[in-house]
Amino acid sequence: MEEWAPPGVDPTKPSIARVYDYFLGGKNNYEVDRKIAEEALRIAPDAREAGRANRTFLRRAVQHMAAEAGIRQFLDLGSGLPTQGNVHEIAQAVSPDARVVYVDHDPTVQAHGRALLAGNDRATFVPGDVRRPAEILDDPEVRARLDFGRPLGLLLVSVLHHVNDDEDPSGVMATFRSVLAPGSHLAIVHFHNPGDEHPEASRIAVEAERSFNQSLGTGRWRTRAEIISYFGDLELIEPGLVPLADWRSEPGDLIRQDLTRYNVLAGVGRKR
Ligand code: SAM
Repeated sequence: MEEWAPPGVDPTKPSIARVYDYFLGGKNNYEVDRKIAEEALRIAPDAREAGRANRTFLRRAVQHMAAEAGIRQFLDLGSGLPTQGNVHEIAQAVSPDARVVYVDHDPTVQAHGRALLAGNDRATFVPGDVRRPAEILDDPEVRARLDFGRPLGLLLVSVLHHVNDDEDPSGVMATFRSVLAPGSHLAIVHFHNPGDEHPEASRIAVEAERSFNQSLGTGRWRTRAEIISYFGDLELIEPGLVPLADWRSEPGDLIRQDLTRYNVLAGVGRKR
């Protein structure tokens, strides 16, 4: 049966955003996406838990930035399809005047993002590609909404591993960091290959990387040293760069991301 798609969206081509939507229990995905997600679940049966842990991290990181660091403006790169607990909802619950700019290159995300944000004059969606940072930073709408002279919450949550090695992830991050005023915070979640330290997780990383590259054309499970380097001279706040589910986890947390615990790292850096 043919499935409905918004204008500009090809339902026969897989989308990272929609594969992830499927993991989170969303309905904005097609057969082609579900096949990839099911293959990922075969390789890493707790991949759904990783998705939930990712959203929990995002909530804690934004809450920290808004409530404790007093940040009032956020740039969410690779924002994904709207789901529960979007950045503007978390930040505006702390401070109603918080401004959020969402950026994603996926047309499905663009269609749903604009619909969700209609009527919210402090949150907007701007189409853009993380691999072309200067275009995002020079975008007139980004410039109009964000003041790079003041602290910014910059979020690259589960997106940087979709920038391939030949697309210069280090250069991309250096450009984004170059606009951060003192007091800005940078949150990164990234696929991780722990190597000999955790052989089973390393095996999952290699298999998942092969599968993602065959189906989606992206997906890099990088080393800890590579991931740390994306923070540049920012100071990692406690607890540092750690397994996703461990970042400021709380006693009531029900996330059971055991199998892939060492396959995703998360951290928040602060510009001095
Ligand atoms: N950040 C959200 C979260 O953590 O819940 C969504 C993560 S989702 C796994 C990755 C998102 O990054 C997708 O929406 C995808 O379209 C987006 N993405 C991947 N490569 C991108 C690029 N080069 N530029 C902009 N967005 C990109």
